[in-house]
Amino acid sequence: MSTWLLITGGSRGIGAATALCCARAGWDVALNCVRDLAAAEAVAAQVRALGVRALVLPADVADDAQVAAMFQQLDAAGGALAGLVNNAGIVAPAARLAAMDSARWQRLFDVNVIGTLRCCQHAAARMSQARGGAGGAIVNLSSRAAVYGSAGIYVDYAATKGAVDTLTLGLARELIAEGIRVNGVRPGIIDTDIHADSHMDPHAAAAGIPIQRLGRAEEVAEAIVWLLSPAASYTVGAILDVAGGR
Ligand code: NAP
Repeated sequence: MSTWLLITGGSRGIGAATALCCARAGWDVALNCVRDLAAAEAVAAQVRALGVRALVLPADVADDAQVAAMFQQLDAAGGALAGLVNNAGIVAPAARLAAMDSARWQRLFDVNVIGTLRCCQHAAARMSQARGGAGGAIVNLSSRAAVYGSAGIYVDYAATKGAVDTLTLGLARELIAEGIRVNGVRPGIIDTDIHADSHMDPHAAAAGIPIQRLGRAEEVAEAIVWLLSPAASYTVGAILDVAGGR
């Protein structure tokens, strides 16, 4: 019987790197995406080439019905869900407070915060030892922006990640009694596509990072795979900075 790991936003960037890293560790990987199905299928092919199973499950994590259908599709594939990485996340164009609007705030919170809560809820219903499950592990993607606040760029995005940190701490304490370990990872500036959406050049910030370079998606993936693994069996409610000292 297979043991699934579901990665939201698994079509590229940190999610795709995590899929490959976890496949090498023996996980069967279900990859969610919202738009770029072809990219997710390409990652799935790479996962299968590593000798494990892969599934592609498109759904907008901000949409209740789509997320419910995604988890039902995973149930139908057979095997238990043992891991969830809440990685799907968005930024918005760099802006000061005065230029922001409600539609932007709503979308950021719907995807980054409510999407994470929603996926945690569905996953916990399946993993909970109190409800017949076998336990599991959840890793939520935050950001160092949660600590710095991202003044003048995207304080709203930073606030969503502050909320992710808080829900990670709370759910860690709530769900550990049901055999579910919840932890977080807080990346610094990682070289992925996401920066194009904020119209920022991440390379311009590299000199200000103590390690003097951007992070690679694979470097974040290594932290995630460890938090999911039995090697992290006593790690509950940790939020691991993967940020080159920033
Ligand atoms: P990315 O390269 O932009 O990839 C984003 C992924 O999320 C894609 O797979 C995308 O799917 C998916 N996605 C976006 N909106 C979605 C939605 N509504 N429902 C389902 N999937 C959705 O991002 P990344 O840089 O790898 O970032 C991954 C996570 O790390 C995010 O939570 C981000 O906030 C966090 N993070 C990133 C950095 C960084 O510097 N890169 C730093 C700190 C934190 P499609 O391909 O289908 O669009």
